[in-house]
Amino acid sequence: MNGFKKFMYGRYGLDQLSIMLLAASIFFSLLALVFHSTILQLLTYILLGLAYLRGLSKNISKRQQENRSFLKVWQPVKIKLNKSFMRLKHIRTHQYYKCPQCGQSLRVPRGRGRIRITCPQCKNEFSKKS
Ligand SMILES: [Zn+2]
Repeated sequence: MNGFKKFMYGRYGLDQLSIMLLAASIFFSLLALVFHSTILQLLTYILLGLAYLRGLSKNISKRQQENRSFLKVWQPVKIKLNKSFMRLKHIRTHQYYKCPQCGQSLRVPRGRGRIRITCPQCKNEFSKKS
C-alpha cells in the first residue's frame, strides 16, 4: 500500500454530496472573484472544508446517511433540471403541451398546423396548433 492509500484506508472518501460541495465551492469562489466579496470567499472555504472533513471521516455510516438525505433532495431537482435542459435544446423544433386529462408532458414537432395529439399515457385525444 502506498502512503496515500494507507492514509485513506477506512476513511469515507468522495460521494455525490462531497462532489456537490466541491462544485459549489468552485462556483462561489468564482462569484467571490467577480464581486470581490469576503463573505463569498469565506463560504468557499467552509464548503471546501466540509467536503474535506467528510472525505477523511471514519464514521462511514453517518456519512452515507448524509449522502442519502442529500440524494433524496437532489435527485428530483436533477431530473427537473435535465427536463428543462432538454426542452431548451429542442425549443426550435418541438412544442411542449400538457395532457389536459392526466398532466403528462408531451412533445410534438413544430410547424405542422393543427394536429391531433394522443396522450401515450391515458390515450386522451386533443387538438392543438403546432
Ligand atoms: Zn394523458
